[in-house]
Amino acid sequence: MKLLIVEDEDKTRTYLKQGLTEAGFVCDCAADGVSGLHHLQTQAYDLAILDVMLPGMNGWAIVQELRKTHRTPVLFLTARDDVDCRVKGLELGADDYLAKPFDFVELLARVRSLLRRGQAGESPILRVANLELDLVRRKAKRQGKTILLTAKEFSLLWLLMRRQGEILPRSLIASQVWDINFESDTNVVDAAIRRVRAKVDDSYEPKLIHTVRGMGYVLEQRDGFSNP
Ligand code: CA
Repeated sequence: MKLLIVEDEDKTRTYLKQGLTEAGFVCDCAADGVSGLHHLQTQAYDLAILDVMLPGMNGWAIVQELRKTHRTPVLFLTARDDVDCRVKGLELGADDYLAKPFDFVELLARVRSLLRRGQAGESPILRVANLELDLVRRKAKRQGKTILLTAKEFSLLWLLMRRQGEILPRSLIASQVWDINFESDTNVVDAAIRRVRAKVDDSYEPKLIHTVRGMGYVLEQRDGFSNP
């Protein structure tokens, strides 16, 4: 498995390369956007880890250009305080995100999960029961009916679907979808869940988005149960 790390900060690049090499990956590195894109266009990589702020060409521009010809999975490293980063990167075709400063164990888990998806030949459509999420067109379909989603609703549903069966605490949803710590105001999460439910769950069966009292939310098909 060969990875490309594009990061201009020497310390982070070295740290990433060392950790990923120890974990058994072959890693190439680039310290600026232009050579990063060149590597990606001329060599075969199983995954690219891209910093957003880079000299020469930023991570967004790289992924935008790369997507014209390649489907290489891309994991973005974003600054924690950049709220719109996730959404912007997603729109351009990034596959996942990690906010800096990140925990290496978390990074490794994301890398492995992206590689697994790639190996399974994952189509850009996620499916749970009769709910579909088209990652390219950024639309949901339920029982064949197209449902339009806002950027936040899309991010939220994408998170719930790609981690289906997992109970996601409100704080995790807040940090993943808004990149902000909403510990003090999880109403934002509840309100967004209500909007997504109204669009993709309320008029359909089986119910897929479930509230787990005191814990958070989970998206899964529960045969024989309906959502209260
Ligand atoms: Ca940087």
